[in-house]
Amino acid sequence: MDKASHDQTLLEAIEALPDPEIPVISLGDLGIVRGFHREAGRVVVSITPTYSGCPATEVIRDDILALLEKAGEHEGRVQLRYAPAWTSDWISAQGRLKLKAYGIAPPAACLSGANEASRVFPLRPLNPIMQAQCPRCDATSVERLSEFGSTACKALYRCLACREPFDYFKPY
Ligand SMILES: [Zn+2]
Repeated sequence: MDKASHDQTLLEAIEALPDPEIPVISLGDLGIVRGFHREAGRVVVSITPTYSGCPATEVIRDDILALLEKAGEHEGRVQLRYAPAWTSDWISAQGRLKLKAYGIAPPAACLSGANEASRVFPLRPLNPIMQAQCPRCDATSVERLSEFGSTACKALYRCLACREPFDYFKPY
């Protein structure tokens, strides 16, 4: 295997790593792997944390380093890239389907759109209650039970149609 396809395989393996908090989606689905290059032969992987201070970031870094180690890249490095800031708009279409199948309502699009370069401060949806949708029956008549669900990134909602509570991945 030549070097370029070796690196491509490595990158794909990194993107396929599960998110520590929501293992049903991968790092690639989340859109947090932002770069892969070599410096003096050493692999450097850039990731953008989903939420600053999210404890999952260290787990993700360790997972990537362990993967590199196993692939024989003993001097690999993970660097954190904070700008542009991650937005839930970076979650792939496939990732949204996986979240929904898992019972988590995927985030509605942020008002800022996908172009983060123009974002000055994190915009939040004006009325997230109107944007959450039941992952089971697709009803939009839902109520928020709590600002925080099973993790800080999610809020707890209940569907008014089927009465099932569900986690809503907050747009960010
Ligand atoms: Zn429902």
